[in-house]
Amino acid sequence: MRYAIIADIHANLDALNAVREDIERQGGVDEVWCLGDVVGYGPEPRECISLLRQMTDICVAGNHDWAATEKLGTADFNPDAAAAIRWTAQQLDPKDIEYLNNLPLVIERGDFTLVHGSPREPVWEYILSTDSAKENFSCFKSAYCLVGHSHRPMVFSYSKTGDCSVILFPTDSGLVLGKSRLIINPGGVGQPRDGDPRASYAIYDSESRQIRLCRVPYDISATQAKMTAQGLPSRLMARLSYGM
Ligand code: ZN
Repeated sequence: MRYAIIADIHANLDALNAVREDIERQGGVDEVWCLGDVVGYGPEPRECISLLRQMTDICVAGNHDWAATEKLGTADFNPDAAAAIRWTAQQLDPKDIEYLNNLPLVIERGDFTLVHGSPREPVWEYILSTDSAKENFSCFKSAYCLVGHSHRPMVFSYSKTGDCSVILFPTDSGLVLGKSRLIINPGGVGQPRDGDPRASYAIYDSESRQIRLCRVPYDISATQAKMTAQGLPSRLMARLSYGM
């Protein structure tokens, strides 16, 4: 079986479409797993919910998904993120709200636990350091945990002796899943933050046990023009050009 792992679409339909086409170009997958933040920041929340629902029904809740429905407050959001959430909330219809509200915090799928932020704090916590990763390895039972939220592709490995380290996430040959437990972030589809503006996602092949990072160019200026037309904050627009 082959799986596509996507996260942090953030209402960026151009990026999601580019990823969908890239998956097809690579021969397709049996299942798509989404790690949340379908909406927020970007200009096409309803279109992204609709396309994602055509692609999969396996998706966990992100902080932006629940903030857009007012299930969560925006006190911890920066002013630009909060402004984009207020705009997003005005776009959603009752069915979109129902869909987002009903997204679960955690999904377990075979060897994998899926969450948005971290297994310890599924909606809020960022795993960016070996310290936070190490503490989170005791918060899920499966061999591997898939996380989003930071929009940065990263892999943390936990050895039997209790050492936690960051390991390379290759785009070419892929990473073979072995005995070490891992926390894996496929990066962000709609607002990458690792300095590479291309959409980011991963493909996992359960036969070869390889997980591979994929980067896909998309029409960033088209997305930015839609953001301008909707009056979304200019800083959110600019950061798409830099992938930061
Ligand atoms: Zn996000």
